[in-house]
Amino acid sequence: MLIVMKSDATTGQVEAVVRVIEELGYRAHPMPGASRTAIGITGNPGAVDPSHFENLPGVSEAVRVSKPYKLVTVDLRSEKTVVQIGDASIGGDELAIIAGPCAIESREQAFTVAEAVRRSGAKFFRGGAFKPRTSPYAFQGLGEDGLKILEEIRETFGLKIVTEALDEAGVDLVERYADVIQIGARSMQNFTLLRRVGKSRLPVLLKRGLSATLDEWLLAAEYIMSEGNYQVVMCERGIRTFAQHTRNTLDLSAIPAVRRISHLPVIVDPSHGTGKNYMVTPLARAGVAVGADGLIIEVHDRPDHALCDGAQALTLAQYEQLVTEVRAIHEVLAPTPVG
Ligand code: PEP
Ligand code: MN
Repeated sequence: MLIVMKSDATTGQVEAVVRVIEELGYRAHPMPGASRTAIGITGNPGAVDPSHFENLPGVSEAVRVSKPYKLVTVDLRSEKTVVQIGDASIGGDELAIIAGPCAIESREQAFTVAEAVRRSGAKFFRGGAFKPRTSPYAFQGLGEDGLKILEEIRETFGLKIVTEALDEAGVDLVERYADVIQIGARSMQNFTLLRRVGKSRLPVLLKRGLSATLDEWLLAAEYIMSEGNYQVVMCERGIRTFAQHTRNTLDLSAIPAVRRISHLPVIVDPSHGTGKNYMVTPLARAGVAVGADGLIIEVHDRPDHALCDGAQALTLAQYEQLVTEVRAIHEVLAPTPVG
């Protein structure tokens, strides 16, 4: 159920509705918007009786939600969510660029790449300290030492740090050092992890699972939001198909598809989406053209020496060129309305 407040409803009236929801033993999710506040209800085992709310002061209507998701949808919030991280944002007018190596390998490597990322005007630096690797024998990341390097990068360059947490203990650590918690494709349906980041004060970058449908991906976001964290960024990073010419098939149709259903920002990862250096820039351009709110790009100072995902890493020069091109594309696009 969704309670839509009148446009002139007072804060006190919103709070009174929240109290009624809580007295029923459910959870209230008030979402203030430009024209009105709507309040999502979760935690109800069955249908909620609308008569609890219909006659409360300030209530416009109590709407039954027939879709599987309640909090990610434009029904609850018609304006786009802008995830604000200090002076940086994702989902606003500015194209968000998140760039950096796949993994933090050393202080020197990370600083060299971060310097180039800062120079490009991007506001976010990416780099894994905990890597989800297909083989247990492959480089697994530097762990907390990697997070300490990321923290130094934040202090030195003023970049916001985006890094993956693989498990709940990892979230505790990432929360101490980073600005945005990345949930990797392989973790998209790790429901205990999703609930844990739902309790975090940090925004969450939610990658699409390797074989996830749109509904499964949106429901993963719903898990996070149902715990009270509404700062979720969706990230299309390619899915498994029968195609063999790319590492994954970058599903760019997912961007307008998410946009139609959800108020959450959505970004594109053309690095994992293609797995091939020469395809990253063309697909980054395309991602921006279809209306993505941002890009996440893997960059390395020496891709041929990378300990992880070298084949898809851009050189510093290639990255710089990409940023110029995608900014130009973004500039000619009018802001995409929700719906
Ligand atoms: C990554 O960003 O380096 C990563 C492991 O991504 P994904 O979870 O999309 O494979
Ligand atoms: Mn990678």
